[in-house]
Amino acid sequence: MGETLLSIQGLSKAFGDCRVLDAVDIDVASGEFLTLLGPSGCGKTTLLRLIAGLEAPSAGSITLADEDLVRIPAERRPVNTVFQSYALFPHLTVFDNVAFGPHLHGVRGDELRQAVAEALATVGLAEFANRKPAQLSGGQQQRVAIARAVVNKPRVLLLDEPLSALDYKLRKRMQVELKQLQRRLGITFIFVTHDQEEALSMSDRVAVMNEGRIEQLDTPRRIYEEPASVFVARFVGETNLLPATVKGRDEGGLLLEVEGIELKVRPPRFDPDDKVHVMLRPEDLDVWSREELERHPELKARAIAARVEEVIYKGSTVDLLVRLSGGDRVAASAFFDEEDPTLDYKRDEEVFVTWPKDWEVLLPWDSGGAGAG
Ligand code: ATP
Repeated sequence: MGETLLSIQGLSKAFGDCRVLDAVDIDVASGEFLTLLGPSGCGKTTLLRLIAGLEAPSAGSITLADEDLVRIPAERRPVNTVFQSYALFPHLTVFDNVAFGPHLHGVRGDELRQAVAEALATVGLAEFANRKPAQLSGGQQQRVAIARAVVNKPRVLLLDEPLSALDYKLRKRMQVELKQLQRRLGITFIFVTHDQEEALSMSDRVAVMNEGRIEQLDTPRRIYEEPASVFVARFVGETNLLPATVKGRDEGGLLLEVEGIELKVRPPRFDPDDKVHVMLRPEDLDVWSREELERHPELKARAIAARVEEVIYKGSTVDLLVRLSGGDRVAASAFFDEEDPTLDYKRDEEVFVTWPKDWEVLLPWDSGGAGAG
């Protein structure tokens, strides 16, 4: 990752008595694709608006290349925003929409024409310069909005849910396009979404936000595989959370009681009698019939008895919803082949659930404010 371009330190924002952002710290690297991910109302848009200069912070600092951004008025910040609504001028052509910003800043003649042509070429719309927005598809309008932002050559591009108005297929395509465009331009992107799949697939790093705070700022892989809290585990991807209690510890790790079995696990950061959540993704779980388990005696001590509740065929995978003997329900997802009995499980059939040793992630019980899922 490059050096820090945008540095946000202790940033807070309150509207009256309502604290919307609470001491947010983020360093964004030059050329990075950073995504702000979180549920509705967690403060994502407010954070973007503070960076853009559309709101003033209650406390904290925002610097860009060591320059204090807060003192610079919005229109002079080297930052542009692409909004969810695109906000194109309907009566202007594509060319004039893109030319609007630079024209406002005094760019004229050949220089203006060239800048607009370059921006339109970058988003693959060179041939659409004379159309009006209404004569374009949703994806094309989206690209005009991006051209209009990049024509100003901003250091940072802010994108507020720019793909949410598009249908599923187009959205998938635009995700790839946008990522490639960002790489080509080398502009730092700060992208807002509440779609976790979008965040994981596009970003260099993801900041998961909850009630005005950053819960975790990490690579997509670490966010998914090593969530820092129950909140992050729940918000990003499908997850199984099993309540468990630490029974003891020795130099080798912890002895954990989960769903009536005792497991020796690695992480040493909890103490005896702590209540924790064991987090496992559906693809981490293996489901066995009694006959299969008989053929794997090494698994017996760690197998949790369960009953099949639902078998859901999904094409390349099959999802099993199973009720563990302790009462919790978990989802297990598996690829399968013709010999695999997974598809043939009947409702209420007895099965056994295991997961590979040391694959579980232990999370503090109350991180994220909710009980077991
Ligand atoms: P969404 O995904 O729904 O757009 P968000 O994470 O972007 O949500 P924000 O728009 O930043 O959330 O809003 C955060 C909180 O701040 C919300 O509770 C919102 O009602 C409140 N809020 C935002 N702007 C104002 C304002 N101008 N005055 C008062 N409250 C505001």
